[in-house]
Amino acid sequence: MSIEVRGLQKAFGPVVVCDHLDLDIASGELVALLGPSGSGKTTLLRIIAGLEVPDAGQVLFNGEDTTHTDVRQRHVGFVFQHYALFAHMTIFENVAFGLRVRPKATRPSDADIRRKVQELLQLVQLDSVGHRYPHQLSGGQRQRIALARALAVEPRVLLLDEPFGALDAKVRKELRRWLRRLHDEVHLTSVFVTHDQEEAMEVADRVVVMNQGRIEQVGTPEALYDTPATPFVLRFLSDVA
Ligand code: ADP
Repeated sequence: MSIEVRGLQKAFGPVVVCDHLDLDIASGELVALLGPSGSGKTTLLRIIAGLEVPDAGQVLFNGEDTTHTDVRQRHVGFVFQHYALFAHMTIFENVAFGLRVRPKATRPSDADIRRKVQELLQLVQLDSVGHRYPHQLSGGQRQRIALARALAVEPRVLLLDEPFGALDAKVRKELRRWLRRLHDEVHLTSVFVTHDQEEAMEVADRVVVMNQGRIEQVGTPEALYDTPATPFVLRFLSDVA
């Protein structure tokens, strides 16, 4: 699923958070929105998700205008920094949740749900924890389960907002590599927000550098390092976190 953002505008009161943004994301691409806190990354992600309505401009999925399409009709999967799993449900039930709440006509059978959940647990390499509860897993494992849960409903687009933000440096590093591998396996169009340039550079096919509601540069990690387009990009990338 390709994503196009056209002339997107969003202000909260006097503060312009998305300032006429244009962006093309190809089908199957993994793109990072990178920038300092308050640069508008999360707002752009939420508009793509359908959780926020822009003041002007459009979001197109595969060329189709979805700007005003309800979030439930967009088939997007989410992973948020604090997207807590349901504490009272087993890991298996957490992953199965999105399938169980489907309308009866499209709900898979129990056997199909079991098969699907097992497949997803294998994909995130946690196939032996289905019977456990969230508090029995580490933070990194919980985020992998959050990913499995997001993928269960077969989204057309995966959106991640600082997915590893709450974890320590070592686990973050591990999960980064792991997200990249997963993406290479499933090739799902994915957009993830981070303020950590190392994370963006290591994981993404292309990086969108944002500053004060504007896009400073879009490019591969190599292109950004080799030919930073603006003084801001140069400064931001040489700022070792
Ligand atoms: P980032 O993800 O880059 O940190 P955000 O998109 O979260 O940036 O926020 C950009 C700016 O918009 C910030 O100044 C933030 O305070 C403001 N903002 C975000 N959401 C709201 C809201 N619902 N109401 C008012 N201001 C908001």
